[in-house]
Amino acid sequence: MHLPEPLEHESFPDSAYAKELHRGFPDLRFSPDLERNFQAFHLKHARARVRFFQLALGLLAITTAVKLTVLDAVPLRQVALGWLGLVISACLGLALTSWSRFYERLYLPTARVLLPLVAAAAAFGIADLRIGGHPDPFCFLTTFSIAIFFLGGQRFREALLINIFMVGALGIALAHAGWPAADVVYYATLLVITGAVGGFVYQGIERQLRTSFLERGLLSEMVARDGLTGLKNRGAFDDHYGRLWQQAMRERRSLALLLIDVDHFKAYNDRYGHQAGDEALRRVAQAVQRFARRPLDIAARYGGEEFLLALYDLGAEHVREIAEQLRESIQALAIQHGDSSAGVVTASVGVSIVSPRAGRSAEGAVQLADEALYAAKRGGRNGIRLVDCYGVNYSTGAFRRSA
Ligand code: GH3
Ligand code: MG
Ligand code: MG
Repeated sequence: MHLPEPLEHESFPDSAYAKELHRGFPDLRFSPDLERNFQAFHLKHARARVRFFQLALGLLAITTAVKLTVLDAVPLRQVALGWLGLVISACLGLALTSWSRFYERLYLPTARVLLPLVAAAAAFGIADLRIGGHPDPFCFLTTFSIAIFFLGGQRFREALLINIFMVGALGIALAHAGWPAADVVYYATLLVITGAVGGFVYQGIERQLRTSFLERGLLSEMVARDGLTGLKNRGAFDDHYGRLWQQAMRERRSLALLLIDVDHFKAYNDRYGHQAGDEALRRVAQAVQRFARRPLDIAARYGGEEFLLALYDLGAEHVREIAEQLRESIQALAIQHGDSSAGVVTASVGVSIVSPRAGRSAEGAVQLADEALYAAKRGGRNGIRLVDCYGVNYSTGAFRRSA
């Protein structure tokens, strides 16, 4: 039987997901950015459980209320009634946020206040019941203790803190109500043990959840990456470019597309072998990648020995300079090429600068760069050609669709 190998983090030196997988997060916490993403991921996946938690909690509170106020012969003391009211109101508040449209924004901040409040109010209520001659519903606290871990939508550390707080509140409440010291210790110990059981199992579950979060992230990075060069692949480029096009249209900015094609590369492969060809492509890819510096820019392997660079909102002269620098930097790699007039591997660059507008096509802009590239090839290779559509009022169809 073939067992799947764990993902090899060494192959992804620049991935934040791989870094955390490698580190092993012994403290159950990621770097701040990733932790924020994990929290959102965790909360989204916990929603059904959180709702179930609220239902169970509400039922437990209501059952207890009915038992104490209706079924018990002894009337409930004012103080216990107050605590009970507080528990029920806090449960209601939690239920409302977990069913609300704004769950993802509201639940955690609300729960951070209300969960400890439920814990404390329940502890003080329980402490008071014995004074009034009622049996105490201590199971509310033990159930709550475990449920916070598994159903409360909290991460391990937060759930642990609430549990510690609850044991403290219980100790104070019981002592304050004059319970014998032996009882205080006994009840607090029960709660500590329950919390420890819940916490122990849950930290293992959260570790697995974190691992699968990282692996999913890493997988989506892998899917977007070209295996040979490590650059973004065609699919990832198309996604990013589509978004870029929309943004440029909204903000009335320009886009520059640089299509880079290695010159006489078939001859290079024929002369030096495919493996040397692969290595040359990797080096050219690194050179191209260095020109995608800003967050919106993207470099990708478009296919074979062709690369694409999309640059957001740069003036035509600036783009021309960048294209020229890029061409030079590939030549400067000085990869020997006996069948090229330059003696080294070079590339031709076709550039289009377009202003995305309604009725203009994103593919058309790539086609313009392709035409510019063709012109650069015809012009003797190792050169750049630029088609500047800046400000020109192209209408639909001006960016010709490819056949
Ligand atoms: P031109 O200057 O007109 O661009 O000529 P060219 O030889 O570069 O263009 P052509 O399209 O004829 O050949 C492209 C070559 O690129 C052919 C193919 O073997 C090579 N190639 C494409 N992908 C890879 C790859 O992943 N690894 C290697 N080693 N070679 C590749
Ligand atoms: Mg080509
Ligand atoms: Mg070529």
